[in-house]
Amino acid sequence: MRKKLNHKIFRIISEVADEMELETYVIGGFVRDVLLKRPSKDIDIVTVGSGIELARNVSKKLRPSPRVSVFKNFGTAMLKYKDLEVEFVGARKESYKRDSRKPIVEDGTLEDDQNRRDFTINAMALQLNKVNFGKLIDPFHGLDDLDDLIIRTPLDPDITFSDDPLRIMRAIRFSTQLGFDIEAATYDSIVKNRERIRIISAERIIDELNKIMMAEKPSIGFKLLEETGLLAIIFPELQQLKGVERVNGIGHKDNFYHTLEVLDRIVPNTNNLWLRWAALLHDIAKPATKKFIPGQGWTFHAHNFIGVKMIPKIFRRMKLPLNEKMKYVQKMVQLHMRPIVLSEDVVTDSAVRRLLFEAADDIDDLMTLCEADITSKNSEKVKRYMKNFKMVRQKLKEIEEKDAIRNFQPPVDGELIMKTFNMKPCREVGLIKDAIKDAILDGEIHNDYNEAYEYMLKKAAELGLEKPA
Ligand code: ATP
Repeated sequence: MRKKLNHKIFRIISEVADEMELETYVIGGFVRDVLLKRPSKDIDIVTVGSGIELARNVSKKLRPSPRVSVFKNFGTAMLKYKDLEVEFVGARKESYKRDSRKPIVEDGTLEDDQNRRDFTINAMALQLNKVNFGKLIDPFHGLDDLDDLIIRTPLDPDITFSDDPLRIMRAIRFSTQLGFDIEAATYDSIVKNRERIRIISAERIIDELNKIMMAEKPSIGFKLLEETGLLAIIFPELQQLKGVERVNGIGHKDNFYHTLEVLDRIVPNTNNLWLRWAALLHDIAKPATKKFIPGQGWTFHAHNFIGVKMIPKIFRRMKLPLNEKMKYVQKMVQLHMRPIVLSEDVVTDSAVRRLLFEAADDIDDLMTLCEADITSKNSEKVKRYMKNFKMVRQKLKEIEEKDAIRNFQPPVDGELIMKTFNMKPCREVGLIKDAIKDAILDGEIHNDYNEAYEYMLKKAAELGLEKPA
């Protein structure tokens, strides 16, 4: 294991720890990631003694000496060295009360410290003192679980999860990120303790959920959340998507699994968390809008608009941002059916112009979402849609080059209309403004000042307005 610790920082910590006669280890996520050959920039150092003192002395040996941030309440200290973040803490023993995930903390041994870790794969330590440099201390056989791709708690899972139910979310998150299975007793305990998740703050839950969203295959996490009964507690709107109703033998598709497929399909095409959220929420209003119409089958009329309305409540509850990021997700959800409707029909210039006008700079993201939304099992159908989308993309490019519609503001605005006809803001101003915009989008006139001005005069005359002399 010595080879895994070839970074200079470990040699320096080792020297300082020996000078201070402190038993010292690197522990947790860094050890796990090194063994998995995953890149890791966060290093956790545990010492049987004062982590803060150790950090200060390590900093003195580094050139240049980094600032040490001390968190007295937690007994931890952190420094940044090159691209690494190194956290130092004294080994500790934790005990929990039932109504809180804040433990009572006492000084402890390495063993105590390993006992308080969440999973066997996160409890391994590598010694840094010279006599045993690189020695693996692995009391719970985390190395075997790494080989077998298993998430398991070090102690009785009922105690581990009940003490700190955030670990339930972490189990599912690690399972998703690493593609590991959750061991049977650990899984059963998640199910048994799921109600305890209610003592965890929304901020912590969303952190984990966003990590699941950013994984290579987020569906793993959402399926686990659903199967363990957690989804119904933390995200009831998504839970509602599950299931198929039948009338006269006619069913609709299961929108939960469809949504997860869309989410997985969008992953290779975007690292944008918010586009992934749009994929997760694009059909969120299908249960609320579902109707069986004889002769027509299942319909989900206006599910995009109702979805837009549902989003602020979901974002507020989950402590997601209520700013332009939410607006972007709303816009994607609102427009998510447009390219497909457009491609089912003859792709007219005017329809493309309108789409470009509404989506503006987010048009490429919208197309990415729509392409991910084609999950039909019928390969002929998929081929046809993809071909049509290609056409839509081509048309979008042509129109953009020709008309510069993206982010366009009509060349004649409300101010000019009011000034020309000596009017205060009123209905007529809005009518003329919209008529100009529509004329440009429909290709009746060009996106040009003179043409728009003439058009304004014409529309005003139709409304009986006269330009004062
Ligand atoms: P990531 O960086 O992907 O979040 P990590 O395992 O490094 O993964 P951290 O949250 O940085 O996660 O935690 C570092 C280590 O601290 C973990 O490996 C684990 O040993 C321990 N740990 C973190 N959170 C908990 C917890 N809620 N309960 C028990 N141990 C925890």
